[in-house]
Amino acid sequence: MLSLADLAPTPIARIFVATHRGEGGAGLTIWVKRDDRVGSLYGGNKVRKLEHLLADAKARGARRLLTVGAAGSHQVVATALFGEVHGFEVEAVLVPQPSSPHARENLRVALDHGLRAVPVRAWAAAPFAVASRLAAARLRAEDVAFIPLGGSNVLGSLGFASAARELARQIADGAMPEPDLVVVAMGSGGTAAGLAAGLAREGLHRTRVVGVAISHPVSALSLASRRLAFATARAIGLSRRASLAAAARIEVDGAFVGRGYGHVTAAGSRATELAAREGIVLDPAYTAKAFAAALARAEASPSSCVLFWHTLSTVPLPSTARRALTPAMERLFRPA
Ligand SMILES: *Cc1c(COP(=O)(O)O)cnc(C)c1O
Repeated sequence: MLSLADLAPTPIARIFVATHRGEGGAGLTIWVKRDDRVGSLYGGNKVRKLEHLLADAKARGARRLLTVGAAGSHQVVATALFGEVHGFEVEAVLVPQPSSPHARENLRVALDHGLRAVPVRAWAAAPFAVASRLAAARLRAEDVAFIPLGGSNVLGSLGFASAARELARQIADGAMPEPDLVVVAMGSGGTAAGLAAGLAREGLHRTRVVGVAISHPVSALSLASRRLAFATARAIGLSRRASLAAAARIEVDGAFVGRGYGHVTAAGSRATELAAREGIVLDPAYTAKAFAAALARAEASPSSCVLFWHTLSTVPLPSTARRALTPAMERLFRPA
C-alpha cells in the first residue's frame, strides 16, 4: 500500500444542525467522519482507494495509468495529482457533464498536473475509448494500469475496509457510539462496499450503510455495490455467509438524486447551507445529496446515531497556471 492518506485517522466531529432557526433551537445531531481532509495533498474518498490502486500498479511495473470519468471527476483529479507524485503518466477518458465552477476547476488542475485527456461525446463511447487505448498500449508492449470508474473495484474498496477498521478503533476509544447508520454519497459504490465489508469484519453489527445514489439508474447501482461488497468481504477473508450478510447491510437510497448526475436539488442546497453553518463544506453533485439524506434519516428517527461519511476533498487544490480550457475541453461542460 502507498501512504497517501497521511492525515488518517481522520477526526470524527459531532455537529448539531439547527434545522429550525429561531424556533427554540430545534435541530439534529449528526456525526461526521472528516475524510474531507484525509490527505494533505488532496482529500475525499478517492484517496483511500488510490492507496491500493497505485500500489498495485507500481507492483506490476506499470508506468502509465488510464482511468475514466466525468470531465470534472474527483477520481480523475485525484489520480492526476497522486499519479504525478508517484511518477506515473496519467491519461483519462472524459465524458461531458453539467458545468459548474467546481467541476471546471477540477479538470483545469488535473490538466495542469499533466493529465492527458481523451474526450468522448457520451458515456456509451467511453468503454470503446478505454478498450482501444489499452489495445494500443498492448501493441507497444507498454504496461498500463487501468483504474475503473470511481476507482471502484475490490482493490479500491480495500481502502474502505481499512477505513472501517479505523472507525472501529475510534469507537473503541470513545470517539463516538457505534452508529446505527453510516450515510455516504454513492457514485460507483466502492466506498459503501468497502465500508460494509469492513464493518462486518470488525463486528460492528448494528451499523447499516446507506448509500445515497447521486445518479440513475438506482437499481443497477444497488446491485453493483452489493456485488462489490461481497467480493471485497471475500477478499478480506470473510466466509461466504458473512460476505452475503455484509452485502445485505447496504441500503441504496434513491430519493435524493433529483434530475441526475451533477444537477442541483433543493434538498441538497438546503443541506449545504445548514452544513456550512457548522463549518462543513459540501459539493452539489455528491455530498449535498448525501447530507440531505443524513438529515432526513436523523429527523425520521431522532434516537438513532447517524454518521455522515464526508467524501469530498476540502483541501485547497494546488495552485494552477489558470490557463483557459481549450475548446475541446470546453465542450465537455454542458449548461447545468
Ligand atoms: C467519487 C465520489 C463519491 C462516490 O464514491 P463511490 O465509491 O464511487 O460510490 C462520493 N462523494 C464524492 C465527493 C466523490 O468524489
